[in-house]
Amino acid sequence: MTKDKKRKAAIRETQRVTGGRYTRLAREIAATASRVFPLADLLAECATLPHASAEWDFPEHYAPAVFDSSLIGTAVPYGTVLELAGILAQQGPGALITLESAEPGSQAVVVCGSRRFQLVLTQDMVNELCRKPECRNSSDCRAFTHCREHLVECGPQALVSMARAWGYGRREECDQDPAAVGGSGEADLLVKAAVVGVCFEPVMNTLLDACFGDPDLFDDMYWDASQALAVQHALERERLRLHQVARAEVARIHKETEDCTSCGMRLFSWNPDVPPTLCPPCAPPPAAARRIAAFAHGRHGVASGEVCHTSA
Ligand SMILES: [Zn+2]
Ligand SMILES: [Zn+2]
Repeated sequence: MTKDKKRKAAIRETQRVTGGRYTRLAREIAATASRVFPLADLLAECATLPHASAEWDFPEHYAPAVFDSSLIGTAVPYGTVLELAGILAQQGPGALITLESAEPGSQAVVVCGSRRFQLVLTQDMVNELCRKPECRNSSDCRAFTHCREHLVECGPQALVSMARAWGYGRREECDQDPAAVGGSGEADLLVKAAVVGVCFEPVMNTLLDACFGDPDLFDDMYWDASQALAVQHALERERLRLHQVARAEVARIHKETEDCTSCGMRLFSWNPDVPPTLCPPCAPPPAAARRIAAFAHGRHGVASGEVCHTSA
């Protein structure tokens, strides 16, 4: 989609939601596009501007207290701004905010660094959004930077680091029952993205290591031998399960594409070093793929993600 088509689609979507006139919305959206300001300026508005009156299409006692923000271009709940400030506390008041879009009476989307946030304008609430520009979905959990649709666009390094962050969190969640760590649908999402990104093994190994720890240390970690054995079994069961998830995903992709997207040969088997939409002879050699990945990540940063998945 070209930039102009995206702009028109955004206007039509706003028109659908708000029922406003196309030309007026086009003017408003153009005025709000790419407005950049430090968080401190938004906090100053929040701390000094008086309550504004607003019309709500729900009972007044559920409505948040709002002020007319000139930076966001519409009425914004005080609580929404304070929640955003809390989330960005580590960046401090100098954090630069870019206003991506604003739909009065509904929501605004702001960007800080690579993170994107939905400011809910009808409640004291902020939702973190997928980092893919203009995507309106949230990720499935805090450890994921992208929604399930766009996880496949993250490169191997980003997927491995998400697997590590998610696995540590999962292990903490299950510290009362370490053998219950496996079987999560969130791990499945990472594995499916890793299949497309030709990094299934690094992602699976990182997941298992972060979730279970080093199996050579199980005897020291768990004083009860039967618990050490239970965790060992749980680890092997999860390894098998993740392989099954990967194979099912490959089967799904093969059913969808049927033939190699490069030469047209029938696809039938899976090699984790080969993109699932290509036959082995058409795939770049793994070493070359790694070199390309290193080059691309060096140039575009960790989450650029356009390497090692030729299905896009
Ligand atoms: Zn997304
Ligand atoms: Zn081929």
